[in-house]
Amino acid sequence: MLHIREPRTLKKPVGASALEILDITADAAGLPAYDGHERVWCGRDEARGLTAIVAIHNTALGPALGGTRVWPHESFEAALTDALRLSRGMTYKSAIAGTPFGGGKAVIIADPKTGKTPALLSAYAEMLSVLEGQFFTAEDVGLTLADADFLRVHTANVVGTTRGGSGNPSPVTAHGVFLGLKAALAHRRGTDRLDKVGVAVQGLGAVGWALCEKLHDAGARLAVADIDAGRAARAQEAFGAEIVAAADIVGTDVDVIVPCALGGVISRATIPQLKAEIVAGSANNQLARHEDARLLMEKGVLYAPDYVINAGGLINAAAELGPGGYDREAAMERVARIPETLRDIFTRSERQGRPTSDIAAEIAMDRITAAFTR
Ligand code: NAD
Repeated sequence: MLHIREPRTLKKPVGASALEILDITADAAGLPAYDGHERVWCGRDEARGLTAIVAIHNTALGPALGGTRVWPHESFEAALTDALRLSRGMTYKSAIAGTPFGGGKAVIIADPKTGKTPALLSAYAEMLSVLEGQFFTAEDVGLTLADADFLRVHTANVVGTTRGGSGNPSPVTAHGVFLGLKAALAHRRGTDRLDKVGVAVQGLGAVGWALCEKLHDAGARLAVADIDAGRAARAQEAFGAEIVAAADIVGTDVDVIVPCALGGVISRATIPQLKAEIVAGSANNQLARHEDARLLMEKGVLYAPDYVINAGGLINAAAELGPGGYDREAAMERVARIPETLRDIFTRSERQGRPTSDIAAEIAMDRITAAFTR
């Protein structure tokens, strides 16, 4: 159990608010997931039920931009670890996608079904405002378009809303993953035809569902899993999908595994179960450990690095903050370049005998280092 020490910097909201914002960077630095993060904030408001973490990993390329996850983590330390890993991923994602933003991510510890009261969300909006543009956020697991719209009424630091913004990023993320999945298929098989290709989708939320629609339309044979049995049943009805138990989805006998739920699904424990030849999905931090990428490669599985293939939503939302404002056509053109980036990574990986995720990290780091030395 992590105990927050006395705050080194305390940001004070204006007025009589009970919200307190603590700098917990030094506490975070004691965790294995800490990776030189610039700043980690914890926002607490007991009366309004808020415990939120905003992790800012690296701002070499611009202010931090990343989604807000609402999830009932079993401990503060687990939530902090999630925020640290996710924000680091955002740094790499932005760098690879060529968006002028740094990596950040927020986690609100709450049940997304019962905990997102207007009071909690308004306390969180206040926290975002107090951070004064250090961090821009959008939807993620547990935070819906309606929630983002609600936050936008109270703070300017939210993108991906219908209140003058680019709307829900999830369908754009799904589109990018769909294009990336086809690029992986073409790389492996010489054709990107999805007709009768077996695809197992884990997680039927905002991205997973939109992706299933595209895969179904393209003729793929779907297997699905969701911890929400209702969603799986709806997918069975809508797409003729086979329902698989959540614990078994990675080992399903299909061609492509599509993780669209939470992280860590590809691990030492699950890799031996894999029958698919491709892993390509939207979930962040799909690999439990960095080294798992090599295990995948040695097993002959082509892995589309998560932060490359799932950058569509980021590209779309980031376009709101660019000069001239949001231009959907230009944003979608950039999303359409995700397959090109993946093809380059796949080719280099094969040529160099190194995991695709190592190649992706190298490209991202080169860009970040170049920004530092400019
Ligand atoms: P969501 O909250 O809308 O959906 C997540 C779904 O996964 C839910 O239906 C949930 O019940 C299910 N789920 C959770 N744990 C599961 C498990 N163990 N097995 C099966 N199902 C499980 O979230 P989303 O916005 O669709 O995001 C999905 C993933 O994609 C997340 O990892 C997110 O960080 C990542 N991502 C999302 C976006 C975006 O634009 N929304 C962009 C980039 C990355």
